[in-house]
Amino acid sequence: MRYSAFSILKNAFSGNRDWAPMWREPQPKPHYDVIIVGGGGHGLATAYYLAKEHGITNVAVLEKSYLGSGNVGRNTTIVRSNYMLEGNEPFYELSMKLWEGLEQDFNYNAMMSQRGIINLFHSDGQRDAYARRGNSMRMHGIEAELLDREQVKKMIPYLNYDHARFPVLGGLLQRRAGTARHDAVAWGYGRGADQRGVDLIQQCEVTGIRRENGIVTGVETTKGFIGCNKLALAAAGNTSTVGRMADLQLPIESHVLQAFVTEGIKPAIDNVITYGAGHFYISQSDKGGLVFGANLDYYSSYAQRGNLETVEHTIEEGVSMIPGLSRVRVLRAWGGVMDMSMDGSPIIDRTAIDNLYLNCGWCYGGFKATPASGFCFAHLIARNEPHQVARLLRLDRFRRGFAIDEGGKGPQPNLH
Ligand SMILES: Cc1cc2nc3c(=O)[nH]c(=O)nc-3n(C[C@H](O)[C@H](O)[C@H](O)COP(=O)(O)OP(=O)(O)OC[C@H]3O[C@@H](n4cnc5c(N)ncnc54)[C@H](O)[C@@H]3O)c2cc1C
Repeated sequence: MRYSAFSILKNAFSGNRDWAPMWREPQPKPHYDVIIVGGGGHGLATAYYLAKEHGITNVAVLEKSYLGSGNVGRNTTIVRSNYMLEGNEPFYELSMKLWEGLEQDFNYNAMMSQRGIINLFHSDGQRDAYARRGNSMRMHGIEAELLDREQVKKMIPYLNYDHARFPVLGGLLQRRAGTARHDAVAWGYGRGADQRGVDLIQQCEVTGIRRENGIVTGVETTKGFIGCNKLALAAAGNTSTVGRMADLQLPIESHVLQAFVTEGIKPAIDNVITYGAGHFYISQSDKGGLVFGANLDYYSSYAQRGNLETVEHTIEEGVSMIPGLSRVRVLRAWGGVMDMSMDGSPIIDRTAIDNLYLNCGWCYGGFKATPASGFCFAHLIARNEPHQVARLLRLDRFRRGFAIDEGGKGPQPNLH
């Protein structure tokens, strides 16, 4: 599907009934060079970059539901690269650079909005930690500004500055961070991959992984067996169940994370704001709804819905930070299943099975990673060697004890 001023005009006069679908609905071929399991942001971006950067187009993306039905269409849309540790920093900065040119690249409006993110701090210790993070970012060429209380107050006057337990002392600002429309990212990558010949096969669940003489020869699916030379897993919250089909035991747990949207109100929140006294983040969508989320529901689950205890906890945190939030009505809430790794950082790697590739461990932060994840995973699949910026995001770091523990939480995925 291509857009032009002419097609918009023509459809305006014909009741918008003549738009062609954005991608084909192909039946699976018997064999592909590469099969990608998971039609989320990462699977679709991988297919897109495999075709665009490496000329590998005999590719299928197998999605058990519809494209974008997973976390890519369920997240709170925050994109940023304000990381500190060596394994994460260059990777997320590559992602940010790709975000900045993404809409021109795949010729689709993903509503990328670099409105800035402010991470609030509420104690001297937290200020030190944020100063260290900001300095590390600046040393690596990523802009960051440490704001004092008055500077924050000028930008976001409606916070609860004098909260008795959690006074706002300042914030760390990354101006290039912001939000993007999550489902449009999936559609843009999907359309771009389809235009280059990739088969996007929906309602096709992978139920088994077939191996002969130790290597993967294809997958059993609800549409029959499909052969492949290389198999790439990008199943996010379902990583461990899909991995088990190839006897992989992975350092991943699946937990629910909820998101919330309020009724539309007049423009009020210009930036993305995160609460340092808890784990609450909020922005305002272009339609006017306030979009926010907080912590995981603290139990493992594959259900894309959460429970009321976390709803209450989330709203409490929100109202502590912005008292006026108590006057806005929540319209919708939903959950997604997070692939929580043991150090809070992702994995993009080959597995012990030569032609089986793994992309997982995205925790809360995989939406912002989508472009770099697809770019680096495609590089790995095409060349059999890690991309430079993803070279530390390896599976064996857990065996070797080289965790990339940005949160400093240890091997407890529910705390990352
Ligand atoms: C509520 C919430 C808020 C979040 N907020 C943010 C945020 O603000 N910023 C940020 O950076 N990140 C955020 N995230 C995280 C981010 O959304 C995820 O890390 C990221 O989307 C995961 O990658 P993905 O898009 O490929 O996953 P998904 O979209 O989940 O894709 C995986 C796909 O695999 C499919 N699949 C699974 N098993 C099979 C199978 N057997 N056969 C075929 N297909 C299969 C699933 O149906 C799914 O479509 C949030 C997540 C949630 C749930």
